[in-house]
Amino acid sequence: MSEARPPSVDALARSLAAGSWLPHPLLVDAARAAIAAGDVGSAAARAGATERLFLQRVVNATGVLLHTNLGRAPSPGGATNVELDLGAGTRGRRAPAIPLLIHRLTGAEDALVVNNGAAAVLLALTAVAADRDVVISRGELVEIGGGFRIPEILELSGARLVEVGTTNKTRVDDYARALRPDGVVLVVHQSNFAQVGFVGRPALAELTALGAPVVVDLGSGLLDAATPWLPGGPPPWLHAEPAVRQSLDDGAAVVTFSADKLLGGPQAGIIVGPADMVDRCRRHPLARVLRPGGLVLGALERALLAHVAGDLDGLPFWRMATEPVEVLRRRADAMGGEVVDCASVVGGGAAPGVSLPSAGVAVPGDQLGPLRASSPPIVARVQDGRTICDLRTVDPADDAHLGEVIRRLAAGRG
Ligand SMILES: *Cc1c(COP(=O)(O)O)cnc(C)c1O
Repeated sequence: MSEARPPSVDALARSLAAGSWLPHPLLVDAARAAIAAGDVGSAAARAGATERLFLQRVVNATGVLLHTNLGRAPSPGGATNVELDLGAGTRGRRAPAIPLLIHRLTGAEDALVVNNGAAAVLLALTAVAADRDVVISRGELVEIGGGFRIPEILELSGARLVEVGTTNKTRVDDYARALRPDGVVLVVHQSNFAQVGFVGRPALAELTALGAPVVVDLGSGLLDAATPWLPGGPPPWLHAEPAVRQSLDDGAAVVTFSADKLLGGPQAGIIVGPADMVDRCRRHPLARVLRPGGLVLGALERALLAHVAGDLDGLPFWRMATEPVEVLRRRADAMGGEVVDCASVVGGGAAPGVSLPSAGVAVPGDQLGPLRASSPPIVARVQDGRTICDLRTVDPADDAHLGEVIRRLAAGRG
C-alpha cells in the first residue's frame, strides 16, 4: 500500500472552514503550518489557537468585578479578553491578533497600537531617537493640522533636530553630510499638501542605504501599494501614495501611520517595523500612557480582518472610494432630484489635490440648514448656488432617507 500523500494546503484550509470563522487566508496559514510540521491533524487546533488571539466576549466568573485582564469595567456586551492569553490562561499581550494581521498585510515583524498617528510619531521618536540627531529635510518640517507640527514633536521627544536641504529640494548628499554616527533619519510624508514644479527628494531606499535607522511618518497609512484587498487592484488616484509594506521593503526601521485614514479603521496610531525597534517602543513608559482601550482594539481588529478577507463591507471607506460612478448615478437617479456629476476628494490629510469622479443630486439654493435639521442629519455642500449631495460618501442604506428629504426640499416644502 502506498503512503497517502499529504493534502494540498488549499484543500486542507477548505476542510477547516466548517469549524472556524477565520477568513480563508488565515486558514491557509494554519494548514501550511500543520503540513510544514508534518502533523496534518493539528491544522484545526492551529486555527483554533489563532481564533483565541482575537478579542472576544468571555464569561468572567473570577469574582473580580474590575478584572484588568478582562478590560476592567464590563461593557453592556460583556467582558472581553483585552489582556488575557486564552491559550495559557495568563496575562498576555494586548490584542495579539493585531500584530499577526498587520504582519500578513504588510510583512512587518511586529506592530504596536497607540491612540492616534501623532502619538505614534511621538512614541517612536522618543523611544528610538531621544538624545540623538534626527536629520530631516526642510521640505518635511510640516504641520499636519490640529497643532501637530513636526519640529515641536521632535523637540518634545528629546531628539536634536538637524535640518538639511531646502524647502523644495533635498538630495541624498545633504543627509549624508549631516549624519553623524548614532544619527537617525526622519522622513515625513507630505500627506496633506503637494509641491509641484522644481522639487525633488531622494527615494526611501537611497536614504536607508546610508546605514542610519530611518523613521518614516507615513501618516495616511496605505497598507500595501498593491491593494490586494481590492478586487480591481489599486485605483489610479493612489498612484503617488507611499505604502507601509513598500516602506518596510525599502529598509525603514520604523513606520508610523494613522488607522483612520487610508486604513479605514477607528482612530488609532500604529507603529510597525523590525521586532527590536517595535519592542523598544513597547517597553518605553510612554507606551502605557498612549495605549488605546479594548473598544478601539476590537474595531481595529475588525478593519484589519476585513483587509485580510477582502471584505469591503467591513471597510466602508474602500467600498465608497472604489464605487463606479455609474452606480452612483443610478442611485442619484432613483432619488428623483436633479442628477449631477461632481467630484469627491479623499480628505483626512491624504491624497491632496486628487479628486474622484462622482455623482449626486442637486436642489436649488442653500438647503444646508434644512438638511442638517432632518433626522438623521444630512451634511452636504453648496456649490454655484445649489446644494449638492454627493452619493460617493453616502451609505446606500441612507438613500431612502436622503431621497425623501431631497424630494421634500425640491417641492419647496423645506
Ligand atoms: C495625519 C498625520 C499625522 C497625525 O496623525 P493623527 O492620527 O491625526 O494623530 C502625522 N503625520 C502625518 C504625515 C499625517 O498625515
